[in-house]
Amino acid sequence: MSRFSESVRKYEKLCDQNDIPAETVMAYLVEISQRERYNLYANFNEEMPPELEAEFDAGMKRILNDEPMAHVLGYSWFYGYKMIVNGDVLIPRVETEELCAQILARIDEFFPDYETIECADIGTGSGAIAIAVSLEEPKVRMRATDISEEALQTARKNAEINGAEIEFTAGDMLEPLIEKGVKLDILISNPPYIPADEQMEKSVVDFEPHVALFGGSDGLYFYRKIFAGCRRLLKEKAFMAFEMGWDQRERMSRLVEEMLPEAEYEIVRDMNGKDRMLFVYFNLNRKDS
Ligand code: SAM
Ligand code: GLN
Repeated sequence: MSRFSESVRKYEKLCDQNDIPAETVMAYLVEISQRERYNLYANFNEEMPPELEAEFDAGMKRILNDEPMAHVLGYSWFYGYKMIVNGDVLIPRVETEELCAQILARIDEFFPDYETIECADIGTGSGAIAIAVSLEEPKVRMRATDISEEALQTARKNAEINGAEIEFTAGDMLEPLIEKGVKLDILISNPPYIPADEQMEKSVVDFEPHVALFGGSDGLYFYRKIFAGCRRLLKEKAFMAFEMGWDQRERMSRLVEEMLPEAEYEIVRDMNGKDRMLFVYFNLNRKDS
């Protein structure tokens, strides 16, 4: 048996030695103990209950082996909603929460009097974006697609546990929606955008689905596909919202200007000051332009 303090310090040290962020230790303990951080610290010199200690040791062993904490827990949090995650889906990232917040702000700006806002999330993965946006804005009618049937199974479960109503369809990029004749006010996508030859952390490459990560030799393969087909899906007044790689501003700007010359666009930074989101507007009056 060990005290909370001893066990936490031991694992924080081991994380440091293995290039894993030491904050993971307390974050994991908060989740499995279902206690608040201040409560854990207030009782830091107590013995750990044996069952909790066994679970903590087993989980930390996997985390020290580079397995993502979300896989060890079987879930992660996104926009305050619990999302089941596993090896079939990308673990939703904090940057993507910012994308959702920016989309919701633009809904208020551009479509304040719409009764229904037709929306789609392409490459939905865990369903995180589709679920958060539709729960935060009840006027949204959300569809979501993914090429991976396995990912969609998880996304459907996530929609169910969070009480979101979403129409899921399997298929390649825009195809399933074009076939259905859907017309959209908003097209959202966080497509795979990592260039094929990029070196990445072991916890990502070894545990997350490659179909969710890699976007061709320059990382822009899926944006090209979407830009080429989007006019068939979008209403006259509409916008598209994308996550993008932080180092793609120039190439992305060139691509939008070349493929969608009639549209206006902006690239928005995330909270770390990195270029992270692309918004493309069709026939919408922007306040700041
Ligand atoms: N939307 C989720 C999020 O933001 O957390 C997942 C994003 S992940 C970067 C990209 C997703 O695109 C993966 O779920 C992957 O399966 C899906 N995908 C890859 N190729 C696709 C294709 N050709 N058509 C549709 N979806 C695809
Ligand atoms: N942001 C993710 C990562 O760096 C990748 C997401 C994506 O390709 N869309 O692991």
